[in-house]
Amino acid sequence: MDTCVFCKIVANEIPHRRFYHDELVTAFEDRSPIAPVHILIVPNHHIESLNQAQAGDEQLFGHMLLVARQMAAQMKLDQSGYRLVINTGPDAGQSVFHLHLHIIGGRKLSFSGQ
Ligand code: 5GP
Repeated sequence: MDTCVFCKIVANEIPHRRFYHDELVTAFEDRSPIAPVHILIVPNHHIESLNQAQAGDEQLFGHMLLVARQMAAQMKLDQSGYRLVINTGPDAGQSVFHLHLHIIGGRKLSFSGQ
């Protein structure tokens, strides 16, 4: 999608710190990290949000989780722990409408639901 910032990152058209890329997904550092480790994993093709996920996307979503596990191990979070988040829609605070999985870790995380 021409105007989507994450599509531009996947296409390497804007600067970012890239950790991983394959035929399905790209992982890069969040530009405003909320923890010492804050990585986003995005599908390479544009999917607006989890609401647009379809039958047939099982491999993609399973792959995203396995890449998240790989990133967590690479960042040495596998013992200390980490959180995976997919914000979906306005009430969840989704601000970029290209589906993304947050990996957050490197500090103790609270969960208030706010
Ligand atoms: P959301 O609130 O949609 O779940 O998360 C979007 C995330 O994307 C935010 O944490 C924000 O900091 C990050 N983000 C937005 N624009 C850019 C960008 O251009 N580059 C990078 N690396 N991260 C971005």
